[in-house]
Amino acid sequence: MSELNRLGEAHANLVVMKFGGTSLENATAILRTAEIVRGRLKRGLKPIVVVSAMAKVTDQLLAAAAAAGCGDKKGALMIAARLRNRHIETTSDLLSGELFTEVELAVRRGFDLLDDLLRGIAAVGELTPRTRDNVVSFGERLSSRMVAGAFAQHGLNAVRIDSRASIITDDHYGKAVPQEAAIEAKLTELVLPLVEAGQTPVMGGFIGATADGITTTLGRGGSDFTAALVGGGLHAGAIEIWTDVNGIMTTDPRICPDALRVKTISFEEAAELAYFGAKVLHPATILPAVQKSIPVWVLNSRNPENEGTKITAMAPPCASPFKSIAAKKRLTIIDIVASRMLMTHGYLKSVFDVFDKFHCAIDMVSTSEVSISLTVDSNERLPEICEELGKIADVKMEGHKALICMVGEDIRGHNGMAGRVFSAVKHINVRMISQGASEINMSFMIEESDVEDAVRSLHAEFFVDPDPTVFDTEVRVVAAKA
Ligand code: ADP
Ligand code: ASP
Ligand code: MG
Repeated sequence: MSELNRLGEAHANLVVMKFGGTSLENATAILRTAEIVRGRLKRGLKPIVVVSAMAKVTDQLLAAAAAAGCGDKKGALMIAARLRNRHIETTSDLLSGELFTEVELAVRRGFDLLDDLLRGIAAVGELTPRTRDNVVSFGERLSSRMVAGAFAQHGLNAVRIDSRASIITDDHYGKAVPQEAAIEAKLTELVLPLVEAGQTPVMGGFIGATADGITTTLGRGGSDFTAALVGGGLHAGAIEIWTDVNGIMTTDPRICPDALRVKTISFEEAAELAYFGAKVLHPATILPAVQKSIPVWVLNSRNPENEGTKITAMAPPCASPFKSIAAKKRLTIIDIVASRMLMTHGYLKSVFDVFDKFHCAIDMVSTSEVSISLTVDSNERLPEICEELGKIADVKMEGHKALICMVGEDIRGHNGMAGRVFSAVKHINVRMISQGASEINMSFMIEESDVEDAVRSLHAEFFVDPDPTVFDTEVRVVAAKA
């Protein structure tokens, strides 16, 4: 039997359960996660738990780091003090006796270290990406201690492990690239034996370390990515992403409260949605899972009985053209007009080389004989990029744009989709249009301020009568009867 088969068979009952910040916002939420994990253990599954920082903690740590970086020591320490209180209060709500003493000490020590770090940054008045990663890592380092403590207090055989020992990355701080072979080896050496001994490991998502042990992070929303790396690395039977909505919905329910749960979606569709702004899943989550054909589930920790969304290799046939609508804000359009009349051979390459040099990903491109328009995430390096492009072209930049992306494998089988999409948003100014190379998305750029209006109009057009085999239409039936 090959090594992979042996591992694959041995680990079919291994399940990686990732709980997002919204599932860990306070003691009540954390206790809910303990019950969810207990439920999986009762089914004979072996969970490895990956946790985010408590809700909003990462934003606040970033704010503290930024304040310290500007020399505002008082401001930075005030944010840290509020975070310290919140973590200690939650610890005392969750734990008692020896467990309380142990975890509270760890939390206090963590915040002492954080305070020292912030003082150091403020003294130099400069924040490097490497130090920022160190500051922001405290969110997951501490939440994992509290969650493991809470699980132990409630009778689970939980053990907290430091993700930095197994999630090995390069040193691209802020968005470090995982080294999958090293990760697989470390997980097999450090985490698997715990599971095999009947323990439930609890590890922080989002954080890792270089081979030299320097703390790194995987980018915002990166705990989903950690879950996929752990699931992929150990050939788990399933990866569960526990969040605060019933699954992947037909659009962000904060924009359309009548959004419906998508019961099953393909890896390709989910990846497209995540990349184009559906915050429910980190774009990189899918890849390690796809490579090993591990099913991914998106589930609601506030409503654990709900079936959630299953992400699988192949989507079932669907009578509706689209599965979901995503919107990505904070984009900038860059118009590049070649100084020469016609774009010569190698011109596009020289343009793309500039973006490559600044590690700036491009979302959408359209070209004409003399000009190129492209869209990128707004970021602090755009002025430098434009300056460099200015050497070979006339450049114009327009911010506050958004991309609307309609995703579905079944677009292919429907004619006249573009006509229906654009007549649904005919009252909105559309800037750039693209039908994705993958043929499963249709995207267009609009003003950021038009996003809510556009999404609601499209949702009303395409999800009035969706295919009940793919979408959870039951909720509408129940609502209509009530
Ligand atoms: P977590 O803290 O669990 O990681 P996130 O806030 O990152 O949670 O992601 C969950 C949120 O994603 C939901 O509350 C929802 O508002 C938003 N969201 C955006 N698009 C979608 C979608 N298509 N389906 C479900 N949720 C979505
Ligand atoms: N805590 C990190 C963030 O807020 C990672 C995550 O939650 O997935 O981005
Ligand atoms: Mg998230």
